[in-house]
Amino acid sequence: MINLVLFGPPGSGKGTQAKKLAEKYGLLHISTGDLFRKEIGDKSELGLLATSYIQKGELVPDEVTIGMLKAALARHGSTFGVIYDGFPRTVDQAKALDEMLEESEDEIDVLISLKVEDKEIIERIIKRGESSGRADDKDEAIIQSRIEVYKKETQPVYAYYDAHDKALTIKGSGDIDEIFESLCAVIDQVTVEE
Ligand code: UDP
Ligand code: MG
Repeated sequence: MINLVLFGPPGSGKGTQAKKLAEKYGLLHISTGDLFRKEIGDKSELGLLATSYIQKGELVPDEVTIGMLKAALARHGSTFGVIYDGFPRTVDQAKALDEMLEESEDEIDVLISLKVEDKEIIERIIKRGESSGRADDKDEAIIQSRIEVYKKETQPVYAYYDAHDKALTIKGSGDIDEIFESLCAVIDQVTVEE
C-alpha cells in the first residue's frame, strides 16, 4: 500500500493538492480537519469537543484525533493507498500512525512538506475565510495561534520522518499546477519503488 503524508503549515495548500493527488492516483484522501468539520456539522459529541479547541486555534488532543482517524480508515475498508492531509500533527500522533501501519506490515513511504512563507499563508487563509465559512479562518488571532502551534508541535514531525530519510520539502507557492507536477514527480518515484 502507498501511504503519503502531505505536510505543511495551515493554508499551505495541503487540502487542494491532496484532493488532486487522490484523484490522479486513486488514493483515499484523509483530512482530519475535514473529519472534524463533518462532526461539527453533525453536532455530534466529538464535534462539540473539537469545536472547543478549533475555535482557539489549538490542537484537539491526540487520543481523540487518533481514534477518529482509525474509525475513518475502518469505515473505508481496503484501499490502494492513503494520502494523509493535516495528520500527523504531533510526534506522538506520528508514532501512533507508525504503530498502526506496522500492525499490517505497512509504513509511511514519504512525507512531503509544502513550503510557504508566513506572510503568504496568512493572506491565503484570510482569503479562504471569505468564502469557506470557517470561523478559524476569519480571526487573525486564531490564525496566528494556529501558526504558532504548527511551529511548536507540528514541525518536529518533519524531523521525526527525516531521521528515517522519509521527509522532503517542495516549494508550495506559485502556480497550483506546477506544485502538483512537483508532487507527482515525487509520488511517481515512490510508486515505482513499491
Ligand atoms: N485540527 C486538529 N487536529 C487535526 C486536524 C485539525 O486539532 O488533526 C484542528 C486544529 O484546531 C486546526 C483546525 O482543526 O487548527 C483546522 O484544521 P485544518 O487541517 O482543516 O486546517 P488547515 O491546517 O488545513 O488550514
Ligand atoms: Mg486543510
